[in-house]
Amino acid sequence: MNRKDFIKTSLIASAGWGLFSSMSHGLFQGGYTRDQLIGKGNPDIAGDSYTSTMHTETAKALEKMKAAAQADGIAIEVVSAYRSFQRQKEIFEGKYKRFTQQGLSPAEAIEKIIEYSTIPGTSRHHWGTDLDLIDANAPRPESVLQEENYHGKGPYCKLKEWMDKHAESFGFYEVYTNNANRKGFAYEPWHFSYAPVSIPMLKAYKELDVKAILQEENILGHEYFTDDFIAKYRKDNILDINPELL
Ligand SMILES: [Zn+2]
Repeated sequence: MNRKDFIKTSLIASAGWGLFSSMSHGLFQGGYTRDQLIGKGNPDIAGDSYTSTMHTETAKALEKMKAAAQADGIAIEVVSAYRSFQRQKEIFEGKYKRFTQQGLSPAEAIEKIIEYSTIPGTSRHHWGTDLDLIDANAPRPESVLQEENYHGKGPYCKLKEWMDKHAESFGFYEVYTNNANRKGFAYEPWHFSYAPVSIPMLKAYKELDVKAILQEENILGHEYFTDDFIAKYRKDNILDINPELL
């Protein structure tokens, strides 16, 4: 074999291997890989900072929505966009260590963490489709992502009203709605999802074996993720969201 043929053959072999390794996980679904769905790399995600890194389609729609809001005197600012698996793992494990050191049992610590934070591998922020938004034109409170900032006399009431009226026409939907019958994560008036991408991603995500992933990734506390716990988490935290996003 001459050098040129050798290179050609090796390239074909390595491309084949890449395909084989993703298929050997049996986790290539709906056009998305397992890694894309759990925040471990996605060629469609771009950006150079914590607040600008997102799916390129989300970014395009956001630009249009921002321009429209600007015309109404609102400066939509992203405070959280794409979050990697690794980053979510650091958040989760940091809290897990802190709460268990304070004397909570592992199961209690996990329950407490998931009041506000997701288990790594299960965050919608892994998809680059979900954004936490504030209004940069309003006076900035000490802690921005609080329900009271978006209601009553809060600084982000104007943003909230504008989003209620216009967000859906740009493809953005509130995820954790203010519905007393909804379980899972608490009401988040700041968290919006770009539906044209997140709906197919959720569909693919539903086919993943979440429990197996949490074991494989060796997340601190994973031995307490029982079948019952995972089933409830999936039903309440992952799927009990705005029905428009299902
Ligand atoms: Zn969020």
